[in-house]
Amino acid sequence: MNDLSKAPSYYQSLDFQKLWLDYPPGKDYLDSAFLLSADEIYDMQNSRFLRQMQRAWQIPFYQRLWKTKGIESNDIQSLDDLALLPSFSVHDLRDSIERNPPWGDLINIDPNSDQPMPMVLQTSGGTTGLPRPMIYSPIDREIMNINTGRRLYMQGVRPFDVIQVMLSLGLSNGGFLVREGIWKYSGAIPVMTGSGAQTPTNRQIEIMRAWKSKHLIGFPAYIRKVGQVIQDQLGMDPKELKIKSLILHLGVDDRASLEELWGAKVYDTYGTNECGSLSAECEYQNGSHIFEDSFFLEILNSDTEQPVAHGEKGVVYQTTLFKHLAPLIRFNSNDISAFATGECPCGSKHKRLNKIFGRSDNMIKLRGTNVFPEAIGSIIGLNKLCNGEFICIVENQGANHEEKMTVEFEVLDEKLDKKEIELNMANQLKESLGVKIQTIAKNLGDLDHLTGLSSQSKIRRLIDKRN
Ligand SMILES: [Zn+2]
Repeated sequence: MNDLSKAPSYYQSLDFQKLWLDYPPGKDYLDSAFLLSADEIYDMQNSRFLRQMQRAWQIPFYQRLWKTKGIESNDIQSLDDLALLPSFSVHDLRDSIERNPPWGDLINIDPNSDQPMPMVLQTSGGTTGLPRPMIYSPIDREIMNINTGRRLYMQGVRPFDVIQVMLSLGLSNGGFLVREGIWKYSGAIPVMTGSGAQTPTNRQIEIMRAWKSKHLIGFPAYIRKVGQVIQDQLGMDPKELKIKSLILHLGVDDRASLEELWGAKVYDTYGTNECGSLSAECEYQNGSHIFEDSFFLEILNSDTEQPVAHGEKGVVYQTTLFKHLAPLIRFNSNDISAFATGECPCGSKHKRLNKIFGRSDNMIKLRGTNVFPEAIGSIIGLNKLCNGEFICIVENQGANHEEKMTVEFEVLDEKLDKKEIELNMANQLKESLGVKIQTIAKNLGDLDHLTGLSSQSKIRRLIDKRN
């Protein structure tokens, strides 16, 4: 029976020395696991995968998923057999929560029978409906924190640096996870200003100047906006703040214009609510290195679920190698990426992701052409008359319900001729994407209420009005 009379102790909840050896933080990682040969990495992944499978077989979600496909535990002898296992997606997670409220049966914890352990719950950053919960055990959380610390080290963060974190602090994992990783595994000091709703932009800037923030962490759109406020409203050059790096989920956002605005290096990272950081760019900014001692990633064609050729775009399928409460085995993330080709000058053989091009569930098929809001954003970001803010609205029109997309975007100067800018933007989009898209120019700040730029850290780029 479980004993609920005592609080579980964090320090006894795992062997921290063993953790440090198995998942070395910071520089220890860059000097060891980061430099393993491809074969050595695979051997490590294989043994961790087999242990992860043993754990997964104890979880009702996988027992059900694999049983329906006739999979037996001895069918999987190594990582080479991974493709025999069925994938699952966010739809299966939602279904699991509906069947077994409130957490679903992937998060395998039962207060009636399990021993207590220190836990934390955070959610996906969904903008509509009830967010999807994830609960982390100490080992889950600490390895995620170590990966955060590693990526910060790779991106130039050092002890005593002040890092201003402009990610919202609430249900979503982003801000809190970053804080734990900075605090426990980097020696730097997290300053949690949060999103624009938690600390208004002008106060964010005051803090940045007064406390000498050295690195900024946030979403590219908001960090761009803060830079523009410094420039246009305060009449200062953001470069004077001597920010060293902007640590972002960059995706297809324009790196060069952000680096130019701030005079700082921009580093890309790929992370999710379930896994934390899965990959991070090193100082060479040459695709982000997957933390391959913690994850095995596949890039597959989502229709056939066959691997795409190395360097081709496909959907990222995630397999975790360390999770206790909710291991992921072939999770279809919906994120579209590609393995980066060639070698990275840093010498690491860990596979790299090129960038996240968009989410496959955000993909709009317009007259046979696949269009991603993220790709539209990168085109708008290149236009010098705009601040990069935009929203896509897709709807049906006419008797045959043809799909139509309108892109609204903000222009920097309201005195400019909007008709002319709209026409030019429509031409640019047609040229780059191959489809006609209606464009509407707006004044600065007009789209805030639609995108949530100043109030949320997860910014909305698509309004789907299709029936
Ligand atoms: Zn590298």
